[in-house]
Amino acid sequence: MTVALLEPGPDDHHFMVWTPTGVAKLAVEAGPRNYEYRTVPQGALNHRTSFQPRGKGLGGSSSINGMVYIRGHRNDYDRWARLGCAGWSYEDVLPYFRRAESNELRARAREPVSRRGRPAVRERPAHAESL
Ligand SMILES: Cc1cc2nc3c(=O)[nH]c(=O)nc-3n(C[C@H](O)[C@H](O)[C@H](O)COP(=O)(O)OP(=O)(O)OC[C@H]3O[C@@H](n4cnc5c(N)ncnc54)[C@H](O)[C@@H]3O)c2cc1C
Repeated sequence: MTVALLEPGPDDHHFMVWTPTGVAKLAVEAGPRNYEYRTVPQGALNHRTSFQPRGKGLGGSSSINGMVYIRGHRNDYDRWARLGCAGWSYEDVLPYFRRAESNELRARAREPVSRRGRPAVRERPAHAESL
C-alpha cells in the first residue's frame, strides 16, 4: 500500500526539531514549521487575542513541542470505562504505559523495561508505589 502525505511545511530532519529545548525557538518565533495561529479576541482574556502555535510540516506539532511525557490522569480513563469503553480503565491501560516507558525504578527492580526511543521515567513521583 502506498500512502500520499500532503504537507504544507518542511520535513522534520532538523536539529531544532530533535532538541527538547528547540521548543523555545520553534514555538515562539516565526518560521516554516509553525502556523503561528492567533485566536479571535477572547472575552475571558479581556478581549485580547491569544497566540496558538501549531506545527507545520512532517511530524506536525510534535516537531515543535517540548517532548514532555506524562501519563493521562487515572480519573479520565476510569470515567471512559464507566461510560462504556470496555478495556479503557486506568488499570487496563497501565500495562501499556509501562511497556512503552523506560522506567528506571522498574529497571532497578529487575523488571523488563524498554530502552531506546521510549519515554524515560526518571523522577520518583509522590505516588511511586502505584508504579
Ligand atoms: C508549542 C507546543 C508544545 C507542546 N508541548 C508538548 C509536550 O511537551 N508534551 C506533549 O505531550 N504534548 C505537547 N504538545 C502537544 C502535542 O504536540 C500535540 O497535542 C500533538 O502533536 C497533536 O497531534 P495531532 O496529530 O493531533 O496534530 P498535529 O501534530 O498538529 O498535526 C496536524 C498536521 O496536519 C497538518 N495540516 C494542517 N492543516 C493542513 C492543511 N490544510 N493541509 C495539509 N496539512 C495540514 C499540519 O501541518 C500537521 O502536520 C505541544 C504542542 C505545542 C504546539
